Amino acid sequence: MERYSTLQQVQSALATGELTCCDLVNYFLAQIEASRHLNIYIEVYAEEALAKAKVLDQKYATSSTAVGRLFGMVIAIKDVICYESHAVTAASKILQGFVAPYSATAIERLLAEDAIIIGRANCDEFAMGSTNENSYYGITRNAADENKVPGGSSGASAVAVQAGTCIAALGSDTGGSVRQPAGLCGVVGMKPTYGRISRHGLIAYGSSFDQIGTLTNNVEDAALLLEIMAGADEFDSTASQSPVPLYSERLKKTEKYKVAYFKSAVEHEKLDTEIQQRTFQFIQQLQKAGHQVEAIEFDYLDYLIPAYYVLTTAEASSNLSRYDGIRYGYRSPNASNLLETYTKSRTEGFSLEVKRRIMLGTFVLSAGYYEAYYTKAQQIRQLLWQRTKEIFNDFDFILMPVSPTTAWEIGKLSNDPVEMYLSDIFTVHANMVGIPALALPIGTHSNGLPIGVQLMANRFEEEKLLAMAYSIPI
Ligand code: GLN
Repeated sequence: MERYSTLQQVQSALATGELTCCDLVNYFLAQIEASRHLNIYIEVYAEEALAKAKVLDQKYATSSTAVGRLFGMVIAIKDVICYESHAVTAASKILQGFVAPYSATAIERLLAEDAIIIGRANCDEFAMGSTNENSYYGITRNAADENKVPGGSSGASAVAVQAGTCIAALGSDTGGSVRQPAGLCGVVGMKPTYGRISRHGLIAYGSSFDQIGTLTNNVEDAALLLEIMAGADEFDSTASQSPVPLYSERLKKTEKYKVAYFKSAVEHEKLDTEIQQRTFQFIQQLQKAGHQVEAIEFDYLDYLIPAYYVLTTAEASSNLSRYDGIRYGYRSPNASNLLETYTKSRTEGFSLEVKRRIMLGTFVLSAGYYEAYYTKAQQIRQLLWQRTKEIFNDFDFILMPVSPTTAWEIGKLSNDPVEMYLSDIFTVHANMVGIPALALPIGTHSNGLPIGVQLMANRFEEEKLLAMAYSIPI
């Protein structure tokens, strides 16, 4: 049977009548069944998706204009995004039994265009992690090699697309969680500018970093999904008011751009040599296509991870204080008074990694240490934005590897949090300064695993970023 992987392909098959929406959903349900061992989904909405497909098929039969722009878009959502009347747990025990009372704005907008949500994908607990190993629901495996991690925290969203169980998936990206798993699984991962997509209904990790992003098989689908989800929202005051361009209609540009890359990044001692070689080949490919690519100095690379992990843990310690055993999900059965309810519910409900981050964040915010850690990290964030802005005065894009290595062995870094944090070295920059960034697959390593590359643009320049990415054959 044909493999359905892009919206355009599906919509043409729906238009000729060779495929119905019900067939399509059944096809993806079969794919989900066949990939159970990868542990992609926490929950599959089989009956509901089929019922919706049936309604859409009927509507379409009356008139092809009766359906929305996402007719045929079967999508998976990361388990940190609220979908009304459906469970949402952030892959944590502490949210066990919690049902979303409303849908995220992004979800509302997808549904309004007739997307079908096929299920809720696994992830690292509260989106904290780089491997998807830190989930109450168990690890998710990379479909390219089942002994390898898929990346994280939106690891299962990437595998959902990689394994052909849906056309696209939503993830969230606080420090690389959409782009890094996209890179490790060989799909397209897009994180928009901070504030481009409303965070209303996205379970908070680091609120000044978090963004919803997409995992897709091509750039067209990323552009269309962004166009539909983006825009002002009365429920999120940090969502930008600036008008949303028609990204999906502006992909075919022939402009020649100026691209910078950091010498310190591509010559980094942690970067795998084959990824480095492939990145240089990619640079040549861009030059041949008429773009100007230049190496530039960038002195801040080694400050990124420490600053990122101070700021995000600080924000997380505050955001996660709401899980108290009273208001949401899990409540310890072993508590006999209020204080014990708080402490036991949190002790039993959060994983080790989440507790580590809450403690770290509480520490860096505490009186006496605030100036030394939190304020310093904020200063670094500011400096980084100054330098990044200067770069964008001269260049259209910054090119970066996605990850220092290809997907690694399950278990390899799970007992070494610092090494795990360091693996985010190339992705956190975009979140520190709130710029859009896109990971594209650019080939396969001799170990058989995908290699990705990352392009970043100035704030709100998604249109240019998507057009550039579209021009690159993948
Ligand atoms: N790996 C990073 C972290 O653990 C990024 C996570 C994310 O983007 N949600 O913080």
